[in-house]
Amino acid sequence: MIKEDIKSIKELLSSPKKIVLIPHKNPDGDAIGSTLGLLHYLNKYKHDAVIIAPNDYPDFLKWMPGESTVLKYDQQKDVCDKWLVSAEIIFTLDFNSLGRIGEMESVVAKTEAIKIMIDHHQQPETYAKFMYSDVFMSSTCEMVYNFIDMLDDTDKIDEAIATCLYTGIMTDTGSFRFPSTTSATHKIIGNLIEKGANNSQIHNNIMDTNSYERTQLLGRALSNLKIIPEYRTAYITLTQEELNTFNFKKGDTEGFVNYGLSLKGIIFAAIFIESQQDQIIKISLRSKGDFSVNELSRTHFQGGGHTNAAGGKSDLSMNDTIDKFISILPQYKKDLKA
Ligand code: 5GP
Ligand code: MN
Repeated sequence: MIKEDIKSIKELLSSPKKIVLIPHKNPDGDAIGSTLGLLHYLNKYKHDAVIIAPNDYPDFLKWMPGESTVLKYDQQKDVCDKWLVSAEIIFTLDFNSLGRIGEMESVVAKTEAIKIMIDHHQQPETYAKFMYSDVFMSSTCEMVYNFIDMLDDTDKIDEAIATCLYTGIMTDTGSFRFPSTTSATHKIIGNLIEKGANNSQIHNNIMDTNSYERTQLLGRALSNLKIIPEYRTAYITLTQEELNTFNFKKGDTEGFVNYGLSLKGIIFAAIFIESQQDQIIKISLRSKGDFSVNELSRTHFQGGGHTNAAGGKSDLSMNDTIDKFISILPQYKKDLKA
């Protein structure tokens, strides 16, 4: 972010404003962590600020400080629309395209509010007046830390802010192991622990809240896991019927895709999850090395994300989606064949 922009934003935030913070649809730890972290920071300046999430998120995020104040657009449209049309500033966090906020898109696109984007996804759209976009960052939470730092305000980071930012960095880096994790990331994590983030407690809150049914669903996912060794590819399917059998709840399938990637020799993993409600197959893609699942998702599955982690969807049936998936692999043989 350039110095001029920081100066303008500092000026803008120097008097109380009406502010809305927005994470992407189906928000993850980084989306909720970054919006909450920034909310706690803005509250120090007596702004009238609120987070509006397009929809709900998994229970394993619901312990975060301030979480109960998050409005959900799909549950409280009227209240949310009032906030959106009267907002002076809108922060959009952890997404690169207004298409990622679902039904909120049209309202947000029309508002007069000054928009500020903080995000690390590839190919960002240019709807925001101020853009802090950096695809090399581990997480939006790391960027919110940097943003506060650029505003010369790291001394304002308290336990609540530190806890939220730690959580998002941890979840987006697979507990600090993905290649996007840098020494700068670790330094920031160190600072956040000094400010009061309880690392061990946060890991417990996120990782060790499995229900018995989720663990059984994981068992089903693993027995559905297939590999295509010649393309170093693994994939998992879960039908709506299987989800129902194990009383699926939002977030239950988080991380399942990584089991495919953990197999020796596998560099590309996918999970296909049927959603009867949305009439789609929701797809998560992961890779190792230079193979870009962002590109593959953009080209074939109406999605995107990062080089090594992307999402997308298919309007075909599960079987047809898998057929399509297998049929496109030869296009990537240069990257995928050993
Ligand atoms: P996940 O597979 O965990 O849902 O998402 C992996 C990454 O891809 C995340 O950074 C997420 O924000 C991004 N992503 C997921 N779904 C989509 C999508 O439909 N479009 C775009 N552009 N990015 C997505
Ligand atoms: Mn993120």
